[in-house]
Amino acid sequence: MKRRQFLTQAGAGLAASAVAAPAIAQSQPAIHWRMASSFPKNLDTLYGAGEMLVKRVADATDGKFQIRLFASGEIVPGLQVLDAVQNGTIECGHTVPYYYVGKDPAFAFATAIPFGLNARQQNAWMYYGGGTQAMAALFREYGCIQFPGGNTGAQMGGWFRKEIKTLADLRGLKMRIPGLAGQVMSRLGVVPQQIAGGELYQALERGTIDAAEWVGPYDDEKLGLNKVAKYYYYPGWWEGGPQLSVIVNIKKWVTLPKAYKAVFEAACAESNVHMLARYDSANPHALKRLVGGGTQLRPFPKAVLEAGQKAAFELYDELAAKSPYFKSIYEGWLKFRADQFLWFRVAEASYDNFVFTSQPRKK
Ligand code: CA
Repeated sequence: MKRRQFLTQAGAGLAASAVAAPAIAQSQPAIHWRMASSFPKNLDTLYGAGEMLVKRVADATDGKFQIRLFASGEIVPGLQVLDAVQNGTIECGHTVPYYYVGKDPAFAFATAIPFGLNARQQNAWMYYGGGTQAMAALFREYGCIQFPGGNTGAQMGGWFRKEIKTLADLRGLKMRIPGLAGQVMSRLGVVPQQIAGGELYQALERGTIDAAEWVGPYDDEKLGLNKVAKYYYYPGWWEGGPQLSVIVNIKKWVTLPKAYKAVFEAACAESNVHMLARYDSANPHALKRLVGGGTQLRPFPKAVLEAGQKAAFELYDELAAKSPYFKSIYEGWLKFRADQFLWFRVAEASYDNFVFTSQPRKK
């Protein structure tokens, strides 16, 4: 190419982009949203996923789409994020839908139900197993659209002041355990309590409650639960892979330019991956510190798991009879779960069971 010809073409290119610039500016309007998190700032895995999301959205739109994140209680109480998004007080929220089982028990499927899916299976259900579509009608009734926005992985069963050696030891025990898990526990004789995370330490210390579950080693250590209860039980059979959701007011969502929607959705997916990675990375160190400090690790007796599972599925049949959403979502979810468990017990479970519990033989 001759130099003169090149310059002419380059000039044409510049002219073309100069003409196109106003159109780009128009498709990138300045938008300011507010997002309420259900979590306090000190829980940096849960709240932090929201921070990551809003930063990514701002960076990817050259600062045009700004979302201001508020911690639990700053503008909305942590347990009322859905209400605030529904009535348009805020455009979006970062929360766990099972906080809203009082409105409809079917919200729990977007987070976790006892003896449900693990984190990978929850993602598979949401992204490729019809989960997002199954949940959409329920969220739409509350004026929202929902995106997976984090996962803690399988949780711990919580902190107990006394050992649980038999099913009978649960009887009369006052335990902080919310949602459907609380309903299942009550069928095993537990008296479930709804207490916010920030008040757990005091409630256990004062003996207002006998036991409390929160998340897992990394978060539980931050709340200081190891200082007020000695026995740390596993697994949290009510939360095999609880998902956090980003919820957006539908009327606000439809006003977003297509490119902003794509960025927002990608940022949700990124937060979903990173929250689990952070937990998986941080939990072993926290667990070592806890055990080093005197925490006694205990597995739940098999009888507790078996009784819990039986009570859970009896509860689901009752909920399906009461909530049309629960019934319709549960039917598809149950089939999906059966297929997932069939597959996971072949390669995944046999791999995990062998390598997690054995050491390579030393020469
Ligand atoms: Ca929990």
